[in-house]
Amino acid sequence: MADPITRETRLSKVVGAPAKKLATERDIVTVGDLLDFHPRRYIDVETSGRITDFALDDHVAIVATVVSGTTSRNRASRGSRFEATLVDAEDNEFSLVFFRPYGHEQALQPGRRVLARGKLGEFRRRPQLAHPTYTVLDADAEGSDLDVYAGGLVPIYKATKGITDMGLTKTLKLVLEQLEVGADAVPDHLRERRGLIDEREAYRRLHLPRTLAEVESAKQRLRYEEALVVQTVLAQRRAKYLAEQAVPRTAPKGGLLEAFDAQLPFQLTTGQREVADEIAADMARDVPMHRLLQGEVGSGKTVVALRAMLAAVDSGAQAALLAPTEVLAQQHARSIRAMLGPLAEGGMLGGSAQGTQVALLTGSMTRRQKEKVLLDITTGPVGIVIGTHALIQDEVMFADLGLVAVDEQHRFGVEQRDALRDKAVRAPHLLVMTATPIPRSIAMTVFGDMETSTLRELPRGRQPIETFVVPSTNERWMQRTWQRVAEEVARGHQAYVICPRIGEETPEDDQVLAELERAWREGTVEDGADDAEPPHDEEPPPMRGVHEVLAQLREEPALAGLRIESMHGQLPTDEKDAVMAAFASGAVDVLVATTVVEVGVDVPNATAMVILDADRFGISQLHQLRGRVGRGDAGGVCLLATRNEEAALNRLQKVAETTDGFGLADLDLSLRREGDVLGAQQSGRRSQLRMLRLKQDADLIEQARGDAGELVGDDPELLRYPGLERAVTERLDEQQVAFLERG
Ligand code: ADP
Ligand code: MG
Repeated sequence: MADPITRETRLSKVVGAPAKKLATERDIVTVGDLLDFHPRRYIDVETSGRITDFALDDHVAIVATVVSGTTSRNRASRGSRFEATLVDAEDNEFSLVFFRPYGHEQALQPGRRVLARGKLGEFRRRPQLAHPTYTVLDADAEGSDLDVYAGGLVPIYKATKGITDMGLTKTLKLVLEQLEVGADAVPDHLRERRGLIDEREAYRRLHLPRTLAEVESAKQRLRYEEALVVQTVLAQRRAKYLAEQAVPRTAPKGGLLEAFDAQLPFQLTTGQREVADEIAADMARDVPMHRLLQGEVGSGKTVVALRAMLAAVDSGAQAALLAPTEVLAQQHARSIRAMLGPLAEGGMLGGSAQGTQVALLTGSMTRRQKEKVLLDITTGPVGIVIGTHALIQDEVMFADLGLVAVDEQHRFGVEQRDALRDKAVRAPHLLVMTATPIPRSIAMTVFGDMETSTLRELPRGRQPIETFVVPSTNERWMQRTWQRVAEEVARGHQAYVICPRIGEETPEDDQVLAELERAWREGTVEDGADDAEPPHDEEPPPMRGVHEVLAQLREEPALAGLRIESMHGQLPTDEKDAVMAAFASGAVDVLVATTVVEVGVDVPNATAMVILDADRFGISQLHQLRGRVGRGDAGGVCLLATRNEEAALNRLQKVAETTDGFGLADLDLSLRREGDVLGAQQSGRRSQLRMLRLKQDADLIEQARGDAGELVGDDPELLRYPGLERAVTERLDEQQVAFLERG
């Protein structure tokens, strides 16, 4: 037997030519890379599929029998071609054609069975594959050894130039014969408990299966492994937090929080009160709070966070609120100052005696402005600091940071969260809010190191938002849409018009655009689907842009006399602020914007939203966008305009019918992948889940979470589980790399 090889061994040490092809074509360099290159599907040599199941231009993989072959001279050129006629399992005829016949005549002799792969075309009204790749399956054929396949199943991989599926299988067979797996990542007792096979057997069953049941058991094992590794990372992180010391922060009687509650113009909802109690209990402990507050759009997360911040200030500390965008930071500063009133003018003439000060710190502030704020933060009069990423910078020093609240967490990585936490002398308490309701499996996977609180209920008196799908190719419907907007304005309200992009001059690599484009192209692609077979072949129609729509709406008769402005991510910050402030104050009637208004923007007087090319947005994103209207007591209307006739209509109809964000998030998850559900920035994490499907594997994730908690509980360093320890380290390294790449 040859030298043992491990996952780390370079593939070129094991095989020659295939290693080179795999490295250049698929970036597969080590043995581990190859083992992780999973088949997309398996075809059964006996029931090989029918050619009639495929449509023109589909990528076909089929087993069929050669009936005849002819070589003929080309009329147009000097060469000749070879054409073989084959029949599938049900006697449907099709042909393979090669314009360089050499070798194919010998290989494709009548009676032979072949696995052929190629793009389905048509020639003289007969299905044809031109220049397919193929493997002769008959054991007696020269150069073919069907017995490489353990059973009747042929694994089909993502097509790789210069290497056939059988070539891959042969390489894998070689690898598996010499593979040394080392300690299993899944400890023995857990494999037993969960009825799982070991690592080597999993690779064998995945790449050289005898039955589909074997494939399933291999996947099950690999999924569990992945879930266990992720959950172990999270359990360790949690254990680390729990070992930290924090200062208990409780609001005294007669303090700022009490004064705030007394002047609050509304009553907290039951849910808000419950969550507030959970937070207060956490903050009263001497270990740092790590709590995720997820809530339905408009459920009133901000006031809950503000109360926690006031409790921190009451106890003599400071609180920081981290927002993902300048627009949001500005808005929070504005609305928090407004809610606090005189309480935000502590130490100032006319301010309240109990009061504190609220400061805003963003990247676009001038050096001068920043310096003043930084000084106030360091020396103490400022109790509440609101800011963007600028808050994370080195020069920001707090007198005594007691609470960090992060709004719309999914835009931040764990690393940024920790950078801010590091600014406190003792570990501060941490409250994280998410923009969108998130399905439980995602909460467990992405935010699994935190406790969670959930706000499902909306404040009383909220009128439901009515949502309609509008076919925008229909002139009359669009007329009616703009009239509807005008009616809202006539009633003293305001409207948003959302476009999927800014305009012509938007650079190609514009992030939002790229993300939308990708989401659209992926459409409803399921995990593991063949990306050589995109669901949308045709070019998408150009999306509506802010500039063009602004110009159009200013000419629109139905909207004559209305004050229409626009906002998007490429405007200078001061212009963004000015537009947003004008809209918030009611000086602008209609705001044409990109998804910059997606998260958190709160203008209660806005009651109408038109989303153009709505099919370009994800379900959760639409729900989030729609959450910008109907925030006051006047109700709201959301019109989803689309030129897309079919599939999208169905999806949009679902959004129109449901106002339950948690339900929609689940639906979103079943149609798309977690990265899309969580939003653009988060999608860096996407690639980090290889096998786990957040929808179907929720139970398995739950099990792994329990198991990981147990392991870390009695062996935090994983000294008794070297295999798992190694897998965890590998994963953390990958995350590190992903984080650095994300910048
Ligand atoms: P989200 O949870 O989406 O971040 P916000 O915190 O922005 O929601 O709150 C939405 C709106 O509801 C705000 O205008 C806020 O002042 C208001 N609000 C919050 N709580 C209540 C309540 N208990 N009763 C009435 N209005 C409330
Ligand atoms: Mg919010």
